[in-house]
Amino acid sequence: MVDPKILKFYARKDIQNEIAKLAKDRELAVRYSNGGFGKRPDVLQYPSDVLELARQGVSSFHVSEERWSDPLQLRSGMSKKQLDELRSGWDLVLDIDTNFFEFSKAAAALIVEALKFYDVSNVGVKFSGRSGFHLLVPFEAFPSSVNGQDTRLLFPDGARNIALHLKDLIEKPLRDHILSLSSVDELKKALGDKSSELMKNGKLNPFSVVDIDSVLISSRHMFRSVYSINEKSGLVSVPVKLDQIKNFQLQQAKIENVSVDIPFVVQPTDNEAKHLIIESFDKASKIEHTYIPDPKTEFSGEKKPYAIPKVKVQDEVFPECMVKALQGMESDGRKRAVFVLIGFLRNMGYTFDEVLERLLEWNKKNYEELREGYIRSQVSWHKRQKETLPPPSCANKSYYPIVGGCTNCKSRNAVSAVHWRLKLLKQQEKKPRKKAPSIKKNVKKSTKAK
Ligand SMILES: [Zn+2]
Repeated sequence: MVDPKILKFYARKDIQNEIAKLAKDRELAVRYSNGGFGKRPDVLQYPSDVLELARQGVSSFHVSEERWSDPLQLRSGMSKKQLDELRSGWDLVLDIDTNFFEFSKAAAALIVEALKFYDVSNVGVKFSGRSGFHLLVPFEAFPSSVNGQDTRLLFPDGARNIALHLKDLIEKPLRDHILSLSSVDELKKALGDKSSELMKNGKLNPFSVVDIDSVLISSRHMFRSVYSINEKSGLVSVPVKLDQIKNFQLQQAKIENVSVDIPFVVQPTDNEAKHLIIESFDKASKIEHTYIPDPKTEFSGEKKPYAIPKVKVQDEVFPECMVKALQGMESDGRKRAVFVLIGFLRNMGYTFDEVLERLLEWNKKNYEELREGYIRSQVSWHKRQKETLPPPSCANKSYYPIVGGCTNCKSRNAVSAVHWRLKLLKQQEKKPRKKAPSIKKNVKKSTKAK
């Protein structure tokens, strides 16, 4: 059953053209009105495909943040290197997500201001379709390389670092704005079970109310296309003028009210986001961030899961990066170390209780102890995951200084480095055994000779 209202909307040529413009060089994912998703990877070849897909029951269109030379070559489980080869660029897409529409407008307007501070003024903004906003800074706004690395390859780190930097910039004004409209008690009530995250270091954490998710910035992550309908709200993801965010009304997103006059895909001037990305990287290298990495991208370099040993692996075979990390952090990186060490120790046959015990012990060796609650919550986060994640590869720079440049692992991760080592040790054990009979033979010969 295809809703005639949806069909009529996607039959509009202007809507088709706008969706196709955004979908160019991107992966497409469609959602059917029955809730199912289309096969991936998919692409939108012609604007008229929009109507064709709608006729087949498609109700919404989603596109990738990354741009690809050939999106149809994407496969699940591709290594970072393979993805890098296929990626032609990426846009910075910020997803402001909240149930509080007014706060969402404030956050979007503050980010636009923060971007303007960096002379980034060609920004696409659209209503998400529910109660949030999507902001897009196109790839063309960034310089072709940053710190000697191709910008094309700086995904998701580049986008994440910028998102985290922008969040830092708007944290205080957003907090002030939220508190000018609501009291902490009111927010607690409104948040319900999520209210435990409301306060951070004695202050209101505005991102517990309005989330700007940097975790979602990961390879092959999709966002709702411009002019796509949101199934739940029935509203359309329409572009909004930068200076009209605060005045935006849901009314404007009703199917019957949608007009195509504000662009979402914007033309930036060359390098306009240069300072933004450079400063974001500088900052990221100084501050430790607390994001929880996406296993799909961070770990795709090594898909092969190793069986978790039944007996705990001894420290003697640990690679130098883990040995060093386990001695405590001398400066930055404690939180990233927690993440890496949990994954590593689990893969070394530690139970979650043993991991916790070891990390609490380890915490005392850090230059400054982390809150015990932080470590406990991280361990329980891992406990809730379906898979036991290996630590990131030692070639993954975003985990420096915990891993990275380690001569034991090289481009492997610490877990596979240990498995290699164990395998080598086994072979070495076998070799002398093979030699043993020949020695015996010699002994026999020599006894015979006697
Ligand atoms: Zn290593």
